[in-house]
Amino acid sequence: MPNIAIVGAGISALHLALRLQQTGVATTVYAERTADEIAAGRPLHLPVRFGRTQERERTLGVAHWDQPEHHTHGVRLVGPPGSGIGFLGRFDVPASGVDFRVYLPRLIADYQERGGRVEPLRPEVAEIERISQRHDLVVVAVGRQASALFPRDPARSPYEGPQRVLTAGLFRGIAPVRPGHIHFQVTEVGEIFSTRILTADGPVHGMVVEALPGGPLEQLASLDALRDAPGFVRTLLKLVEDHAPELRERIDAAEFGIAKPGDVIQGGITPVVRRSWAALSSGRVALAIGDAWITNDPLAGQGANLGSRTAFELAELIAAGGPFDEAFARRAADRLWSVAEPAVHWSNLNVGPPVEQLGALFGAATSDQRVADAFATNFNAPEAMWEGVRTPENTDAWLSRITSAAGA
Ligand SMILES: Cc1cc2nc3c(=O)[nH]c(=O)nc-3n(C[C@H](O)[C@H](O)[C@H](O)COP(=O)(O)OP(=O)(O)OC[C@H]3O[C@@H](n4cnc5c(N)ncnc54)[C@H](O)[C@@H]3O)c2cc1C
Repeated sequence: MPNIAIVGAGISALHLALRLQQTGVATTVYAERTADEIAAGRPLHLPVRFGRTQERERTLGVAHWDQPEHHTHGVRLVGPPGSGIGFLGRFDVPASGVDFRVYLPRLIADYQERGGRVEPLRPEVAEIERISQRHDLVVVAVGRQASALFPRDPARSPYEGPQRVLTAGLFRGIAPVRPGHIHFQVTEVGEIFSTRILTADGPVHGMVVEALPGGPLEQLASLDALRDAPGFVRTLLKLVEDHAPELRERIDAAEFGIAKPGDVIQGGITPVVRRSWAALSSGRVALAIGDAWITNDPLAGQGANLGSRTAFELAELIAAGGPFDEAFARRAADRLWSVAEPAVHWSNLNVGPPVEQLGALFGAATSDQRVADAFATNFNAPEAMWEGVRTPENTDAWLSRITSAAGA
């Protein structure tokens, strides 16, 4: 019976641990922070989990937030002023936004209640080497802090730095929409998106400002949201007023504020694909999954969903049996890349220079609900999304398929 070390306790690590637990494979989760520390800490990300990820949660028996009030039903995409673009695309199955400071501790508890072992570990190479001697395979899922074990793969990483300057946080004072949907404002200077997120204190709204470097949205990322929260909130409100007027209409200025001190993250994320495995000096192999392997800009909402998906793929390979040697690592690398590649390309397309096919698609979605719905639904199916947007010809073909099939 294989014995697997999983380093990290994010969605990627926990979906892998819970899945392997179901298939009877022995695992130990090595976590830098305890569940209580995660719950009491600052947010690291604000992920929306699409339908397939929630389906995996049902498979794992951890669908704790599957009630209609927590569902998000689509994407309202609004183009820059004067573009004429604006549509509400409906998902075929709902998405969900839960604060990971609630989500991860609950999944850690599920794993432990079913007999899973969680041990403390600093995610350093020497520590990973040390624990590898007790296991047949080490899976590293420590998030975007990365590990020196997995160098950047330049062939799969077109960008050398962040393409957006990010400010993300949780806010009160934004009126909910019914049915719930993600508001996604595209501007000439970046993007602003917002959606309902369930926190330990109840529902609030997450807002992410993705500033193009050098543009007016960038200033937010350098403001001190902890020491001067009123100044930060004033600037954010003004920027939303100038660049996302429809979202501004839902904000009550008197109520608007950071949900809790510290609920803001700022900085840039470099989209990167790293080498997915490493040979350890112990003779064991270490594999990377989730953000430790691939970090996408959050604009397309793929990172957590992909982390969960690759965790399930890897669980299947591990459950099929070893030896967990370099040949296994190569096989796993090929299989996981075949799953991950479309999400990476789709994420990278979003933060690259504007492409004509997205303009054409958004225009078509504005005038045809069938296109809007198919586009929104494809957030849950990155391979279908990428197939439909990767070239102008693909988009033409995809649009014809949607309009002829749905109209038939
Ligand atoms: C602003 C923003 C918005 C995003 N939106 C989306 C989205 O809509 N959809 C989507 O799929 N992806 C989204 N992402 C990306 C997604 O959150 C990551 O890809 C995903 O969470 C990575 O999971 P992981 O398990 O690989 O790593 P991580 O979750 O980073 O986990 C790595 C390690 O960090 C620890 N950790 C995690 N959270 C905390 C915390 N709060 N406090 C302390 N320790 C913690 C874990 O225990 C773990 O050991 C977003 C990211 C950002 C920054």
